[in-house]
Amino acid sequence: MTLPQRDKRLAAHLTWQEFDQRVKDNYIFILTVGAIEQHGLHLPIGFDYLMGHEVALELANRYPVVVMPPLQYGYRSQATVGGGDQFPGTTCVGAQALIATVRDILEELLRHGVRRIVVNNSHLENHNFLVEGIELARRNVNLEKHGCKILLTGWGNFVQDATLDALFDGKFPGWDPEHAAVIETSAMLAIHPEYVDMSRLPDESCPRYPKYSIFPTPPDVVTKNGALAPAKGTSLEKGKRILQDVFNGYAEAFKTEFGL
Ligand code: MN
Repeated sequence: MTLPQRDKRLAAHLTWQEFDQRVKDNYIFILTVGAIEQHGLHLPIGFDYLMGHEVALELANRYPVVVMPPLQYGYRSQATVGGGDQFPGTTCVGAQALIATVRDILEELLRHGVRRIVVNNSHLENHNFLVEGIELARRNVNLEKHGCKILLTGWGNFVQDATLDALFDGKFPGWDPEHAAVIETSAMLAIHPEYVDMSRLPDESCPRYPKYSIFPTPPDVVTKNGALAPAKGTSLEKGKRILQDVFNGYAEAFKTEFGL
């Protein structure tokens, strides 16, 4: 039996000595945080972490980056953003678990001497809990004193308004209903097409998008398939354009914040 080759972009595949050398060489350590959440009938439930992880791997092809094992689980799926918890497979963690896990991992990285960290969020609902994890870690380690910087961002942050205007003919509905729809599907098609089932693209809209949350989730704020908007307009070209913005955005951030 041949063992799979080690992928030196991944922290999990490094020896402790290789890890330590990358710390000394001031690599950027990326912690992706995703979710296990339904993404319609055409995308896997791991979409959020898979997408973030693929972006991190590509960043490691371009820059001195160590890809930390991603947090596959994320904060509770909300109906008007991710379809909610009523779908089989949507398996989330609460705020305390997420905050504590992120805080602990960041404190460990800082203890090892890592000075450049990116928390790469790939699931909208995670945001404030990631802020909290960072803030708590920062209370215990003085970032200024150790010359450390932590960025919190995610691939969606870098998609330009002009691109959204062009892709949606000026009628971008906003990020919330774009769950498992054109942007996410096109982006995955451009970075890892094997995860997309193009024969099952959803073509339904939610009957209504209330501007408030309802507990329990009524059936008419989510489609039956789980995507919150049609993904019929998905294309590789759109995906490439989205990824161009994403990697331009990371390039700009790494240049401005890390001097790369
Ligand atoms: Mn999500």
